[in-house]
Amino acid sequence: MIVGIDDTDSRRGMCTTYLCAYLVDALRNRNYNHGEVSVSTPWLVRLNPSIPYKTRGNGAVAFEITTTTARTRLEDVKELVKSTVSKFSELDDANTNPGVVFIEDEPRSNLRVSQLKSYYERAVRTVLTQKDALAIIAESGFDYFGLKNKRGIIGALAAAAFVILQRYYRYDFTYELMAYRAKERWGTPRRIDEHSVWEADAATYPLTWDTVDVANRRIVFAPHSPCPVLFGIRGDSVDAIYKAYKIIDSEPVERIMLFITNQGTDFHLITHGTGQKLLDYHSYILDGVVESNPCTLVGGHVLFKLSLPTLSTRVDCIAYEPTKGFRNIIRKLRHGDEVRVFGSFKRGTLNLEKIELKSLNKEELRNPRCEQCGRSMESAGRGQGYRCKHCNTKREAKEVVTINRAIEEGLYEVPPVARRHISKPLIRMCATKGGGGGEGESVIIHPSR
Ligand code: ATP
Repeated sequence: MIVGIDDTDSRRGMCTTYLCAYLVDALRNRNYNHGEVSVSTPWLVRLNPSIPYKTRGNGAVAFEITTTTARTRLEDVKELVKSTVSKFSELDDANTNPGVVFIEDEPRSNLRVSQLKSYYERAVRTVLTQKDALAIIAESGFDYFGLKNKRGIIGALAAAAFVILQRYYRYDFTYELMAYRAKERWGTPRRIDEHSVWEADAATYPLTWDTVDVANRRIVFAPHSPCPVLFGIRGDSVDAIYKAYKIIDSEPVERIMLFITNQGTDFHLITHGTGQKLLDYHSYILDGVVESNPCTLVGGHVLFKLSLPTLSTRVDCIAYEPTKGFRNIIRKLRHGDEVRVFGSFKRGTLNLEKIELKSLNKEELRNPRCEQCGRSMESAGRGQGYRCKHCNTKREAKEVVTINRAIEEGLYEVPPVARRHISKPLIRMCATKGGGGGEGESVIIHPSR
């Protein structure tokens, strides 16, 4: 049986991953007959990062239970899941609406599997309704449980679907090892020895990533909220993650749990088709031409207009202040640069996560120089070309000169401090293009660290 859970936490406390870790441990430690019940490594599945009612990173969780004996055991498990969700969820918060989905008989027909595929992909890339989730639950004969308005079933079904889909499709995935705090410490400042974190990063990067932000001299693997999470180590190698964990010196850890996850994969990005309208709360990869030189807005955000030839429209692209040094790349753009932008779209604005500078405009029109004295010519009046008043020489038009650009072509990204959980760090891409690029094209990568 696969169990998917979502929407149990609030900004004031709890974390759905903690609830999952608690359940997985409780089930593993239960006094079942030897080998009768086994519990998988759980999954942490990030859904649409632009969803307005998310608490933080729009994460849902799932785990799989295998039993060699009677189904009554599964009823037992369901009761434990329901009672734990009811007990642990932050039900006083208006925005917490827990949902649980149980998949006992895994769908195997092509039709049902592709239905789950489409549902999962829409959960990460678009905006769904409870009706969408309930329709699949009913058609496929799944069981579910919810509290309050039960919105969590949307994410719970997507997380459970991801477990099944990983058996059929080669979806990219990574790992995160979560360390949790003892209950009496929840809400108090975290004690983590920073020096040990830098050491752990140095010993395991790039197999672990987004533990620290070197440029901004910040540790970015620990939340600042009153939730039970002490820290999370993300990476591509389980061995490297545990190696980093052993180096870190911190307050006592109540429990740890390794998750398989779709974090760091860019699965939220939609490669945009010609002529399609851009929709709010969706994230896109768009090719365009910089239409205006960037400007800095109040608050330090940097904006430029991008014209999108395939859509016959334009979009405002913004690098917000929290993206720190990434804004320096954006400030160096010029009109005429051909770029590919990656980010989420809302009300005519694309919030930049990555940018590929494909072709820099190195041409500039300047008043021509006098062939005799070398001075810059002046306009001879409207429509009358240019002249040198010293030598009386004339030229019809401006001349094109090649300029140096203080920036290189290639892919750039926001720093770890501003990175979304689901965004793929450039360090995960090798020399040939991975997320978002054309097959086989080579591109220079500028990882931010
Ligand atoms: P945390 O990361 O701390 O667990 P969160 O950011 O995941 O919190 P939730 O509290 O889970 O936020 O709230 C997200 C809500 O949005 C859930 O009810 C989930 O079912 C719903 N949801 C997730 N993805 C979509 C989607 N694509 N369309 C509509 N609703 C969604």
